[in-house]
Amino acid sequence: MQYNYLASEPLHECSICHETIIHPICPICITTQIQAWLTSYSNYHELKDSLFPELRNFFEKHFKESTECIKCKKARVCICPYCFTEFILDELKRINANKIILKEFLIFFNFDLEHKGYYKEAEKLGVV
Ligand SMILES: [Zn+2]
Ligand SMILES: [Zn+2]
Repeated sequence: MQYNYLASEPLHECSICHETIIHPICPICITTQIQAWLTSYSNYHELKDSLFPELRNFFEKHFKESTECIKCKKARVCICPYCFTEFILDELKRINANKIILKEFLIFFNFDLEHKGYYKEAEKLGVV
């Protein structure tokens, strides 16, 4: 698959892993998707209250003007989806989210396309 934006724009790297961001979806759009997904759980409010302030802090800490998000078109893809979802996974563990939530998270938000990071964990949970 060829992406035109790679050819026409300078490459942007992730603030955390310094790899080129090849799936430009910003942390805010991912957070919106996470929020929609979490509403299916009965303890949604609890999850949201413990998770979202941390996600916001994380985003603000690493924020810089960057490449345009393919969803919201704002130039704020400063963290690659992998690093951001890895952080969320760690946060879910920190707040003791149950195994079902971790499993579903890895099914819906698996950006470990090269299978170098949390993919192994997904394998252990039997979701890939
Ligand atoms: Zn990254
Ligand atoms: Zn976005």
